[in-house]
Amino acid sequence: MKITPQTALIHAPRNAPQSISTVQPPLYRASTIIFQNTAALYNRHWTDDYDYSYGTHGTPTTYTLADQIALNEGGKYCLLAPSGLSAINLINSACLGHGDEVWIPDNIYGPNKEHLHDLEKRYGIGVQSYNCLDIDSFQPSVRTKLIWLEAAGSVSLEFPDIHGLLVKAKQHGVLTALDNTWGAGLAFNPFDIGDEHLAVDISVHALTKYPSGGGDILMGAIVTRDLDLHHRLLRMHALQGIAVSGDDVAQIQRSLSSMRLRYQQHHQTTQKLSTWLTQQSMFAQVLHPMLPDSPGHVHWKQSCSNGLAAGLVSVIFKAEYNLNAVRAFCDQLQLFKLGFSWGGPMSLVMLYQLTQMRQLDTSHLAKGILVRFCIGLEHPDDLIQDIAQALEKIKSSSNNHP
Ligand SMILES: *Cc1c(COP(=O)(O)O)cnc(C)c1O
Repeated sequence: MKITPQTALIHAPRNAPQSISTVQPPLYRASTIIFQNTAALYNRHWTDDYDYSYGTHGTPTTYTLADQIALNEGGKYCLLAPSGLSAINLINSACLGHGDEVWIPDNIYGPNKEHLHDLEKRYGIGVQSYNCLDIDSFQPSVRTKLIWLEAAGSVSLEFPDIHGLLVKAKQHGVLTALDNTWGAGLAFNPFDIGDEHLAVDISVHALTKYPSGGGDILMGAIVTRDLDLHHRLLRMHALQGIAVSGDDVAQIQRSLSSMRLRYQQHHQTTQKLSTWLTQQSMFAQVLHPMLPDSPGHVHWKQSCSNGLAAGLVSVIFKAEYNLNAVRAFCDQLQLFKLGFSWGGPMSLVMLYQLTQMRQLDTSHLAKGILVRFCIGLEHPDDLIQDIAQALEKIKSSSNNHP
C-alpha cells in the first residue's frame, strides 16, 4: 500500500530492521501496546509472566530492570513504582485491611510511619511500634498481619536483629517486609538470613538512592519470592495504575552496572570519615553500624558478614550545642549540601531533632541535635577538611559568645 507523507510520519514508511546488539538494551516508551491480532488480545491474562497489554503493566524496558533488581536482591519477582515511598505504600495497601494490625520499628523511614498513621485514623488499621534492638518489644496479636523491618534504621542507624525478628514473625504467621534501601542488595541478602537461610517475604528498595546513583531519578522496587504474594501485590499495582517512565528506567539501568563499585567506594570513604568523627570532641555520639559501640553493631556484623555498609553516618552533637549552633555548622559546610535523600555523587547533610521523631525510649542515644552525613564520591580528605572547618567556626563563635 502506498501512503502519503502525512501518514508516513505516523507509520514508518520502511520499518528499519530492529535487530542490532547494543550495550544498553533498547528503550521502549509505551502507553498503547499494539496487539498482533485479536487472538493475542483475547488470550492474555494479567498474571502472564510478561503481560504486554498496556503501558502501565510494563514494557521490555521495565521488565528488564525489574528482573535485574530481583536478581540483585536475591528474590524472584519485582514490581517497579515511581518512588520508594510509592512502593512502600503499595505494600501497605495490598497487605493491610480494616481491623488488621501492623508493627513498625520506632526508627522506620518517617514517611512510612506517617502513611500508616493516616491509614490507622481513616481505615481502622492498628499501628504498633517496637524497639528494633529489643525483640521482646514486638508483641504480635491475632490481628497482626505485617511487620516492617529496616536495616539500618532511618537517621539513627541502629541495626536490628533481622534473624530474631524473622523467626518471631514466622512463628506467628506475620508477613515480613524489609526496607532494604540501605543494604541495596549488596551488604546482605534479605532472602538468605542466618544459618537457617530465613527470608523476608518482601524487600522494598528506593532505587532513587544507589541504583540511580545520580541524585536525579526517583523510583522504587518491591521484590518477592512467593508467586501468590507477588500476584497480590501485582493486582494492587495494576488497580492503582502504578507505572514508571521508560526513560527513567533506562537511566537507572545505565547506572546499575556500576552500583557495586560505587557502593564500595561510598562505604570506604564513610568508614574513614566515621573513624575521624569519633575523634572529635564536639560530638556526644557517632552512629554507624560498623563502629563497635554503635547500637546494633553485633547484628550488623552477623548480617553484613562481607563487612559492607552504606555511606551514611550520623553524629549527635553534645547537648551544649543548641539548634542555632548546629544550624550554623550545617550552613558553614561547603562541600556537604543541605538536602534530603542520598546515594548520589554529592555529599549531603541534614539535621534532626530526634525527640520529636521517636515514640519509644531512646536511652541508647545521646541527647542532642543529630546531624546525618550522606557520603558522596568526593575524596575523603576533602570531606574531613570541610567538616573540620565548619566545626572550628562554631567552636570559635561559641567562645566569643559564651
Ligand atoms: C529514600 C528512602 C525511601 C523513599 O524513597 P523515595 O524514592 O525518595 O520515595 C524509603 N526508605 C528509605 C530507607 C529511604 O532512604
